[in-house]
Amino acid sequence: MALIELDHIVKTYDLGLSKVPALRDIHFSINRGEFVAIVGQSGSGKSTLMNILGCLDVPTEGHYRLGGRDVGELSDDELADVRNLEIGFIFQSFQLLPRASALENVELPLIYRGVAKKDRRERAIAALEIVQLKDRMTHRPAELSGGQRQRVAIARALVTQPSLLLADEPTGNLDSKTGEDIVQLFLELHGKGNTIILVTHEPKLAARCPRAVRIVDGLVIADGPGRAVAMANAEALGAEAVAQLLAAQHAAEAPRHG
Ligand code: ADP
Ligand code: MG
Repeated sequence: MALIELDHIVKTYDLGLSKVPALRDIHFSINRGEFVAIVGQSGSGKSTLMNILGCLDVPTEGHYRLGGRDVGELSDDELADVRNLEIGFIFQSFQLLPRASALENVELPLIYRGVAKKDRRERAIAALEIVQLKDRMTHRPAELSGGQRQRVAIARALVTQPSLLLADEPTGNLDSKTGEDIVQLFLELHGKGNTIILVTHEPKLAARCPRAVRIVDGLVIADGPGRAVAMANAEALGAEAVAQLLAAQHAAEAPRHG
C-alpha cells in the first residue's frame, strides 16, 4: 500500500473578490521509502502541495490518504498528532532557535513529547552524528555556516524518526555546492529507508533524485525518473538551463580528485 495517496486534490484560495486555483487536479501516489523531488517554477503550487502533505492545510476538493487514513476525516487533535509523530519538516529558512545550541535545537521535538533528558540527549546526539555535526553540537546557529544550519534542521526533523520527511526548498538559501551536498545527504537518508519529498525549482537537484514530479500551474505535467523530468524541465526553461543541467551532470560524473 502507498504511504501517500493524493486523490484528485484541488486547492483554491478564496480571497473574497477573487479565487486563486493553486492546485487543480493532483493525483499520484508515493510509496514508503521513495525519494521524490517536486519541481516547478515559483507560484506553480509546490508549497501549497507540501502544506497539504504535511497536514498544515486541507484540500478544497479530493482526498489525501496518509498510511491508508483519510486525513480529511481526522479531528484537529488527531491531525496535530500526525504532524508531530509522523512528519519531519525542513524549511528554506532553517527555523532554528537562535539562542539555543545545535544540540538543544535538535532536542526540542523530544522535549515537546516529554522524552526524559538522558534519552533526549542520546537521541539528539545520534541525529547530529547522522548529519556529521556531532563536533559542532555546542555551537549556536550564528556560529554555523548555512549548510551546517540546514544539517541541524535536518537532524531536528530526523530525531523523532518520522515516517515522512518534507523539505520545501531546503537549498534555497544555500550556494550551489552546499545545495548539492544537502541533496547528497538526502540521498544517503533515502538509502537508509527514509521517505523524502523535496521541493526545488532547480532542475540539476531534481536530476539527482530517483523520481521527480513536475508541476505547472497546479497540474502535474511530468512524473518519472528525476533525470528525465529535469531534462524536460530544463528544455522548457531554455538553452541556458539545459547547458547548466548538462554541466552539473558532467561534473557529478567526472572522477573526483583530492
Ligand atoms: P510555489 O511554492 O510553487 O511557489 P505556492 O504554492 O506558494 O507556489 O503558490 C501557488 C499559488 O497560490 C500562487 O498563485 C500563490 O500566489 C497562491 N497562494 C499561495 N498561498 C496563498 C494564500 N495563503 N492565499 C492566497 N493565495 C495563495
Ligand atoms: Mg514555495
